[in-house]
Formats: sequence, structure tokens, C-alpha cells
Amino acid sequence: MKFEDLNLNKPLLNAITDMGLINPTPIQEKAFSTIMSGRDVIGIAQTGTGKTYAYLLPLLRLHKFSKEKHPRVLIIVPTRELVLQVVEEIEKLGAYMSVRALGVYGGTNMNTQRKLVEEGLDILVATPGRLYDLAMSRSLRLKNVKKLVIDEVDQMLDLGFRPQLINILDLLPEKRQHLLFSATMTKEVEAIIDTFFNDPEKIEVAITGTPVEKIDQSAYTVPNFYTKANLLKYLLNHDETMVKVLVFVGTKRLADRLFELIQGEYGKALGIIHSNKAQNYRIKTVQAFHAGKIRILLATEIIARGLDVSEVSHVINFDAPEIKENYIHRIGRTGRADRQGIAITFFKAEELEMKAEIEAMMNKEITEIPFPEAVEIIEELVPDEIPTSAGDINYLPKVNLSSQGAFHDKKDKNKKTNRAHLRRRARAVEKKKARRKKKRK
Ligand code: AMP
Repeated sequence: MKFEDLNLNKPLLNAITDMGLINPTPIQEKAFSTIMSGRDVIGIAQTGTGKTYAYLLPLLRLHKFSKEKHPRVLIIVPTRELVLQVVEEIEKLGAYMSVRALGVYGGTNMNTQRKLVEEGLDILVATPGRLYDLAMSRSLRLKNVKKLVIDEVDQMLDLGFRPQLINILDLLPEKRQHLLFSATMTKEVEAIIDTFFNDPEKIEVAITGTPVEKIDQSAYTVPNFYTKANLLKYLLNHDETMVKVLVFVGTKRLADRLFELIQGEYGKALGIIHSNKAQNYRIKTVQAFHAGKIRILLATEIIARGLDVSEVSHVINFDAPEIKENYIHRIGRTGRADRQGIAITFFKAEELEMKAEIEAMMNKEITEIPFPEAVEIIEELVPDEIPTSAGDINYLPKVNLSSQGAFHDKKDKNKKTNRAHLRRRARAVEKKKARRKKKRK
């Protein structure tokens, strides 16, 4: 199928031609007519499948010029980077149309965004937290929203945005079309669909990225954080083909710790992104990694998943993923465009069961490489690895790192922990909802 075969109009076809796109991807082909028909759609697809255009094409095809101030299309995404990416895609696709799109996200001045909202817009792209704040401040009215897209909903829930998402869904008018996209279908995602969606059509596309057969996959068994850091340095210092290395670290705190530990050795060739890093820093870091200025990028799963970080020479799983499907998502970032990709995973001995599960899922073995003799094994553990009194490994963060945080960290007031104001507003919405319910009765 070609784009001409979809019921697109001239402005969209012109924009598509300018971008050099020829064939719609499977999700674009499958979703187009269903979304055009007004039916709710659930798309199970990850970044790289072309899912963004899968919803933008029909939405823009249905777009009509209007002087209306309040948005008629609302697109909710989990991270600021995605807000920027989606707005950019709307601008590209809408190059020959008159469409007003605005992106809003937390961590930046709300008054500036409030003023932009008040100038009037057709499509609003937003992260849940800021969207909710704006809706509560009354600058933003959601009563005109006819189409709602929730993109990367699984990641949104992972980030703890469930309450904001539910409150926003409650604020929206009842008659609206829902489009939801998620890389994975979890129980939480299903619960949201069951509550808010109306007989949706489910469209599923296969995981993209480099097929697993084309990725050279190996693994080391490594006992702890400090030994992993030694092995990582050893690999980086002995393998010259490691030119663009994406390193997945289990948590923000461990990523910060690793950054501090090896920064002296790699200097500006080392970058880090996670959700507590300031917006500008994150954007600059990803750009520098794309441009090849940063050789090694440390990232948490959450933040890396939605980003267009691909075609890397090596993916290193410094920490094994907690969910086996995420292994495929991570390693698919290496070796695009007919190039062989390389993925290396550090498993702890207690994670070898996960390794077996991943192998069974792929029906492919991950080659175990003997631990190099030249790499020093360290006994010392980081606080996250010290067994708790219950006897299990307390690997997830509970207390704050003793360090003051790097200069590029978000200000404390902007970190996600400080959300008292949101809780206050959520309580106000709860009260309003209760009043509405009472009235209905
Ligand atoms: P997404 O899955 O929406 O994050 O898209 C991933 C990338 O694929 C983006 O950089 C798009 O520009 C690109 N893309 C989207 N649709 C197509 C298409 N039909 N043909 C080629 N590239 C596409």
C-alpha cells in the first residue's frame, strides 16, 4: 500500500512527499480508517513502528480550520521529550495546513505556557502533571476536546501518573473518541481501557527495531555494582568498535552513581539522561549522542524508551531488565539499517532465571562470556545492594543519595516528589466529582 491509497488530502500528501515517506507502516495502514470512522482504538505498538503518524494522519485529515480558542484534540504523553517530538511531527505533517499545535510540560514556567494556551489552539500535546495544573488553573478548558490520544500509556503509569491521568479523563467531556497507544498491555492499562473506553478496536503490530536474529547477544555474570563498573570500563577501553554505546542502568540513583564513578575517566564523552535531569540538559545530551559527540550514554529504561535513540553500535544492559519484554525493546536500539547490532548484558547470579526466561521468549541463546581475568572483582556493595533485615536484596531505591546532586539536576521544587499542590488539587477534583455524582442521582 502507498500513502496515495489512504484517503488523505493534498496538504497531507504534500507534506509526506516532502518528508520522503512512501509507504505507510503496518500500524498506519491498519489504524487509519478505524480512527477516521470515529471508533475508539487501542494500538499495541512501540516507538519505531510509526505509531505517532498512525494517529496524527487521521487526526489531521479530520482537522478543520476553526477560530475556537480551546483545544479540540488532546494528546497526552509521558515525557517532555515526547511532547517536543510530537509537536515537531505535527508541524511537519501540517506544513501545508492551518493548524495550531502547542506543547506543554512540567519543569518550566507555567505562566508562559498559560499565556500561550490563552492565545488559542487546535491541538494540545501535554504531559499529565502540567496538563492537570493548567486545567485546574482554569486557563485551559477541556470541554471542547473531541479526540483524546494517550500515547505510551504503560510508561505514563510506570512514572506514577495514574492519578493525574484519571483526573484528566474525568474532566473531559463524555462524548469523545479515545485513542490509546502502549508498547505493552498490562493489567493497569487494561483497567483504564475498561473504565473509559467504548468498544475499542485493538490493533497490534509486531515489535520493530533490529530483529533479534541480527543482534549479536552476549552476557557476563557479574556479582555487584562496583564490579559491573569495572567490567564496563574494561569493555569500553578494550573495544574500539564501541563508538555509540547506550548503557541501561536500573534506577536513576544507580545511574547517577555510575556517572560520578566513571566521569573522571570519560569526561565529555559520557552523558546521562533520566527523569530527574533538567529539560535542557536532557535535550542537549540526546542531541550530542546523536551527533557522535557523546560516546557513552547512561540511561534509565523509562526515559530511553520514548526517545528516538537508535542506531547505536552497542547496547549494554548494565542492569538486567526487570520485565523480559523490555530486553527486546532495549536491544532493538542497536544495529539498525542492515548493520549487525551488539548487545551485552550483565546478569547477577540471582538473575540467571530471568536470562533463561528471555532466552525462552526469543527462542535464542544469549552467549555467556567468561568473566575477564583482568577485571578486578570488588566485594563492597552500594547501599541499594545491601540485604535488608528481611533477607532479600533491596535493590530499589528508598533513601536519597548522600551527594548533593549534579548541577544539571532539576531543582528540588521541580522534582516529582514535591507534589503537595497536586494532591490538594486532586482532592478538590474528588470533591467536585462527588458533588456531580450526587446531582446525577
Ligand atoms: P514512531 O514509532 O512514531 O516513534 O516513529 C519512528 C520514526 O519512523 C520517526 O522518525 C518517523 O519519522 C518515522 N516514520 C514514521 N512513519 C514512517 C513511514 N511510513 N515510512 C518511513 N518512516 C516513517
